[in-house]
Amino acid sequence: MISPIEIPNAIAGCILGGAIGDALGGAYEGQSPPIEVITNTVARISDNTQLTHATCEAIIEAKCVDPATIAAVFVRWFKARRFRGLGACTLKALQELAAGQHWALAGAKGDRAAGNGAAMRIAPIAFFCNPEDDDDRALIRNVCRITHHNEEAYAAALAVVIAIRYSAFHRDAPMHLLPKAVAKRLPDSVTRDRLREISTGDLPSIHDLAVRHGTTGYAADTVPLAIIGASHVNTLGLKSMLCDLISCGGDTDTIASIAGQIAGTRLGLDGVVADLAKPLSEYHELLRVSQQLRELV
Ligand SMILES: [Mg+2]
Repeated sequence: MISPIEIPNAIAGCILGGAIGDALGGAYEGQSPPIEVITNTVARISDNTQLTHATCEAIIEAKCVDPATIAAVFVRWFKARRFRGLGACTLKALQELAAGQHWALAGAKGDRAAGNGAAMRIAPIAFFCNPEDDDDRALIRNVCRITHHNEEAYAAALAVVIAIRYSAFHRDAPMHLLPKAVAKRLPDSVTRDRLREISTGDLPSIHDLAVRHGTTGYAADTVPLAIIGASHVNTLGLKSMLCDLISCGGDTDTIASIAGQIAGTRLGLDGVVADLAKPLSEYHELLRVSQQLRELV
């Protein structure tokens, strides 16, 4: 189990690890493989980190996880034009929220709402909500519904929460067992079935899984691939793991951002995560938010 001194390190590792993946993958979003990833340029973060950051700000403001406050902070950021590269469902929800719609009604519905917009911003919730608790699980679902009123989008976001909790609170548990541990706790969904399939036998490589399921912004493509990436972090190292994911193309920034959040949680901020995150212009701001979150956990 995690000791109390390690929690701040895990939170900062999560938020900044996600920002590293987002920034590295941003230049290649929508491209087809093979992609040669160049890592020596200063890259920009986008909606993945910005929505996560806004979620942190809302938790700090409400001193708890409150969907109404998260929706209100999203609207504030949206009106101030602080989001870059929003997906269609998130954009639609934010437009409706900004026009006065209630948070429980604004989220996109139907099959087209199975994108990764909820999964990409759910990470901070993992330090406050335990999916083993029914009330917490309902709260996670409500946080997803602000933008995505869809069971697959919820299952994929829940998978991210479980993966982050595994990485943070079960530090002795090996990362290669992550897909199995997540699949066991998910409701019936494509995300669960894919994680189950991955966990039988040897773990597939990042490249093999990307070819098998695809790399689109469909939540059930994005999240299992990000989880496989994070499962390989100890053998590949953070930077190579993120570059491998990005080289597979598709929704590169979101896949790398989620993998960076999970892997960064396990690695903590010290060392490689801090080294890779320091060139980001948002480094100090994200570090400050991580420290404020830690005081509430
Ligand atoms: Mg993306």
